[in-house]
Amino acid sequence: MFEPSYLSLLRSGELRRRAALLDARLEACDICPWDCRVNRREGQTKVCLSGYLPVVAAWTPHFGEEPALSGSHLGKGKAGGTGNVFLGHCNLRCAYCQNFQISQGLKRGQKPGMSFEELAGVLLELQQRGCHNIGFVSPTHFVPQIVRAVELAAKRGLRLPLVYNTNAYDEVSVLRLLEGIFDIYLPDMKYSDDEAAWEYSKAPRYVEHSRAAVAEMYRQMGDELLLDEQGLARRGLIIRLLILPNDLAGLRETLEWIRGALSPRVTLSVMTQYFPAGRATEERFALLGRRIRASEYEKVLGWLEELGFENGWVQPLEAQAPDYYRPDFGDPSMPFADARDFMP
Ligand code: SF4
Repeated sequence: MFEPSYLSLLRSGELRRRAALLDARLEACDICPWDCRVNRREGQTKVCLSGYLPVVAAWTPHFGEEPALSGSHLGKGKAGGTGNVFLGHCNLRCAYCQNFQISQGLKRGQKPGMSFEELAGVLLELQQRGCHNIGFVSPTHFVPQIVRAVELAAKRGLRLPLVYNTNAYDEVSVLRLLEGIFDIYLPDMKYSDDEAAWEYSKAPRYVEHSRAAVAEMYRQMGDELLLDEQGLARRGLIIRLLILPNDLAGLRETLEWIRGALSPRVTLSVMTQYFPAGRATEERFALLGRRIRASEYEKVLGWLEELGFENGWVQPLEAQAPDYYRPDFGDPSMPFADARDFMP
């Protein structure tokens, strides 16, 4: 019988201790690699524009995540979806963000934060609606608040696995405090080149920070993605790789790093759903101004095979998301719904 690991931390009191340690770090915020040192407990903000209370832009069952998360392989009527909680604001500024309205469109203080009790209620509502897990989307800058809410929700009966769906610009010492709280890490490794990371996401030293973060996730999880008897993920690490036009993500180098520093058995999720969202249509981002080509897709498939990766999914090329993908409407555009295992 599956039990998420945060329940044993709840029983021992460790979950409360971790929540307090994380909360204290908000007084001189070093929750992510920006290391802003502002007092968010008193409402100060800096790069991520986020104060103390968690800003939640939307929450909904989502059927377009990887099959082992959203359950899309189970067939119609059986998939409860991932219970996605979309956090407002972000610690990156990706020019092409598909959730642009909620990650960068909100002004400082525009949307009031929720109380921790209210966020706990959101998690319990998603469980009540039959979701297979809770997916925190862009959780990094609000992780202390999330852990507080998880503690409250667990006391009130939360039993679902928790997914940490991140841009990988995470601080290793924070991730160490999350060990045993999140059941599935879902980092998106965005770049293998710092110049590209700065140009398109305004993330200093992204390569070093993201690789250190993913290495820590791997230390906690290893390379086995634990599935239940229905094929739903219960514990592990899934690394997302979004193919950008003109190979701006530098995927070959990232794949080589994963293979060499981690393992070729790590579960990968290769995504083709890129489209020019946000500011990517502006002239200065000309290299981002189109969808990916079949030749770019085939090249990545070749690298996966050549480098001997064994586990994961690749979105079909024709499953690219529509231009008006709106997570706040729970868009069922299912980019992964007919994804295939690339090494059965
Ligand atoms: S979480 Fe926000 S305030 Fe804290 S270090 Fe990161 S960007 Fe700065």
